[in-house]
Amino acid sequence: MRIRRSSALALVMFVAGIALGGYLMSHQNTRPFVPTVEAAGDKVTDPNAPAPGRYAYYPGTEALGPDEMRVIACGTGMPSARHGQAATSFLVELGNGEKFLFDIGTHSMGNTASLMIPYDFLDKVFLSHLHTDHWGDLATLWAGGWTAGRTQPLRVWGPSGKTEEMGTKYAIEHFLKAYNWDYQTRVSALADAPGQISVTEFDYMGMNQIVYQENGVTIRSFPAIHSGDGPISYSLEWNGYKFVFGGDSFPNKWFIEHAKDADLAIHECFHLPEQMVKMYNQAPPVALFVATKIHTSPQAFGKIMSAIQPRHAVAYHFFNEEETRYAIYEGVRETYSGPLSMATDLMTWNITRDGITERMGVVTEEAWAVDGPVPAPNNEPDDDPNAWFTDEILAGKWDVSDAEGQMIREFMEAFPSAFQPQN
Ligand SMILES: [Zn+2]
Ligand SMILES: [Zn+2]
Repeated sequence: MRIRRSSALALVMFVAGIALGGYLMSHQNTRPFVPTVEAAGDKVTDPNAPAPGRYAYYPGTEALGPDEMRVIACGTGMPSARHGQAATSFLVELGNGEKFLFDIGTHSMGNTASLMIPYDFLDKVFLSHLHTDHWGDLATLWAGGWTAGRTQPLRVWGPSGKTEEMGTKYAIEHFLKAYNWDYQTRVSALADAPGQISVTEFDYMGMNQIVYQENGVTIRSFPAIHSGDGPISYSLEWNGYKFVFGGDSFPNKWFIEHAKDADLAIHECFHLPEQMVKMYNQAPPVALFVATKIHTSPQAFGKIMSAIQPRHAVAYHFFNEEETRYAIYEGVRETYSGPLSMATDLMTWNITRDGITERMGVVTEEAWAVDGPVPAPNNEPDDDPNAWFTDEILAGKWDVSDAEGQMIREFMEAFPSAFQPQN
């Protein structure tokens, strides 16, 4: 029997929750970050009955209420790669049908794709800054979604920089230049539109400025302090709810001001410097600088959340495991006692007037792209799939028509309307 990684992860979280629950029983003024009773599920009264109230979310099996917001962590980790935890990305789903990706860090699309959401619904990406652990998987969404049925261009929003070359517009334009071979060879065989990226760059110094306003959704940005000018944080308001996503930042007064009254407030909460030395192979002075000057320490994260008092706080940007999570949690609890999630990949929050629930997403390891309302597009009639070949290379083709001819004929007969003109 194969054990699915996500199921194993959920089990690990469950067991960790029980262990931590016991550990925290002896610590006053603290609250277990995994609600163990909910993790166990509600009472099962009949051997054949379903078990209600499980700490699990199975993507695609629950309709989102018209008044409801759902947030899924598609990446919560670090710049260096880890099989079990991708870099920053959060998917926000609204009851009005809108979906937004906040950051798209390296490796995160494996999680996002495992949700099996049609690519046409994943067309809006908001970048906090241009470190690879926050936008490195744009290539995967761009080219992967293009080949898997997206019908429209991607839309990307992001901040300007101290100079033009440090801004999002420059990054996207040169991203497409770097991927020119990819773009040219695909555009000559696939529909053109979904290979395009429309970029909206806004002033990184904008103070709570509106950067998106459609369909009852307002997204605003405000500056962050991280590695240089440019990084920002976002708030999203819809239907009386307020979601706040802080990208990387040293604690800053703008977050304190503009994240107030958030229903869900996500802010980075970095590893302790000792963890960066012991497990991330950083020299002690580098570790101290990165963990406390470039990023936000657990203690500082707690102070931020105590100041803004969200309905629910989410800490991310650390490899979440047995060896790390307790010390980070204890650090946060030195300065914050409110509702808190220690995020890891696929953690899911449902936000309603009645409350905010945290569950772990349980997904398939073998996701495929799924059909959406708009059929997958055909390529353009004048596309030339040989446009980037020379005759010398084409002359090297070996004849396999006798081997595959019958299979191709049968396929074309199965889709008569698609192939009628030529046959
Ligand atoms: Zn960064
Ligand atoms: Zn980062």
